[in-house]
Amino acid sequence: WSKRKNVVAVIMEQLPREIVQTLKDFGKLAKDLGMKAYAVGGFVRDLLLRRSNLDIDIVVEGDGIEFARTYAREHGIRCRFHKKFNTAVLIFPDDRRVDVASARFEYYQYPAALPIVEFSSLKMDLYRRDFTINTLALALNPGEFGQLIDFFGGQRDLKDKTIRVLHNLSLVEDPTRILRAIRFEQRFGFRIGKQTVALIRNAVRMGLLQKLGGRRLLHEIQLIMVEDDPLPPLRRMNEFAVWPVLSANILFDQKLEDLFVRLREVVSWHRLSFLDEPLERWWVYMLGLFSGLAAADVEDACGRLQFTAGQRERIAWAYRTVSGLLWGFFPAAEHKPSAIFRALQPFKPEELVFMMAKAQDETPRRAVSHYFHRYRHVSTELKGRDLKEMGVPPGPIYRVILDELLDARLNGEVKDRQEELAYLRERHAELFGGEGEVPDPAS
Ligand code: ATP
Repeated sequence: WSKRKNVVAVIMEQLPREIVQTLKDFGKLAKDLGMKAYAVGGFVRDLLLRRSNLDIDIVVEGDGIEFARTYAREHGIRCRFHKKFNTAVLIFPDDRRVDVASARFEYYQYPAALPIVEFSSLKMDLYRRDFTINTLALALNPGEFGQLIDFFGGQRDLKDKTIRVLHNLSLVEDPTRILRAIRFEQRFGFRIGKQTVALIRNAVRMGLLQKLGGRRLLHEIQLIMVEDDPLPPLRRMNEFAVWPVLSANILFDQKLEDLFVRLREVVSWHRLSFLDEPLERWWVYMLGLFSGLAAADVEDACGRLQFTAGQRERIAWAYRTVSGLLWGFFPAAEHKPSAIFRALQPFKPEELVFMMAKAQDETPRRAVSHYFHRYRHVSTELKGRDLKEMGVPPGPIYRVILDELLDARLNGEVKDRQEELAYLRERHAELFGGEGEVPDPAS
């Protein structure tokens, strides 16, 4: 049973014109090939919620690979496909991707008196999905373009702001849905339905999350950690007693919540300050999550998530070194810029962001900020090739000289090429033939 409603007006109002055209092109091609095409899932959900989402998922009743191939050929774009799953990806020139899945018509022979009926395989496809709000489909074929197809009450649940699974075995089939339910609930400001809450509690009690592979568990936690504000879903995971899946010792208390608030502040500071520099936000929050644990518990949790040996070593190193700096190095004395640069240079931006959020007082925060804004961009004007031209025999001494020059520059002791040369003349006269002039390689 499907309630039908046309949402062409919403499509026109919400989507850029070229996306509407692409959807229409999909419908027209499907018709030409004797197939039916639908936009499904998160794209339709977000359209009805008036949230921007241009990640289109298509289901065609028919051969999705043939559909995608033909579309790619006719529009001169790229296409990749998985024969095994009957799925394809269209890759548009602006790198937008559209996933295409196949749902084949299935014919059901009813008792003799009845004709053979075509049972919509779209419904079967949608029945496999996680929540009712993700089961809406949008017809694209000409003549029915924009018709909303709602087999499972998705519209009602969108209106009631409710996350609901489709059937009682849903979480047994796929326990990652526990985390997906929490993520969608918090992202949209919805509530998980009463029955679904009971199913989640039950699934957690039965240890279904323990059975999940580390990679899948990590992936879902990553998705939560890259939400705009990860604290509410992370807190909700605590309410559902999910954290013991990583470690019995994760203590989700006010102190940890405060840290997450500060992490988010520093993450947005980083985004606003360094617009196009990538930051793996999930790694920042993961560092936060494990930061109250003993080393052995961190090790266990990382093992559970199947972190690579490299990642595990890195996280242990980061905790050790960040603590060393925050409780040893920074409080000990006032440091010159060069010392701060040397101390912070080994860290990745994610670790520095974590350090900034962990810092109790202003000194380390200011130091990290200066590092990001200034120190890391400082370089010497003289390079190895200049030393060579100046007749210094190549060897490890180059590193020593250039490091020293860089320190001098960071500390404002030299500020241009001439001063760098003068500095070398004074400090390394022996390398340039006693007291003689250091030749300027450019002159
Ligand atoms: P997001 O905005 O986070 O990308 P989305 O709903 O688009 O949300 P995807 O993870 O891209 O989520 O999945 C696309 C669609 O595939 C979903 O709308 C959902 O219907 C379905 N889906 C994804 N993961 C599952 C799952 N574990 N079980 C069932 N259906 C799933």
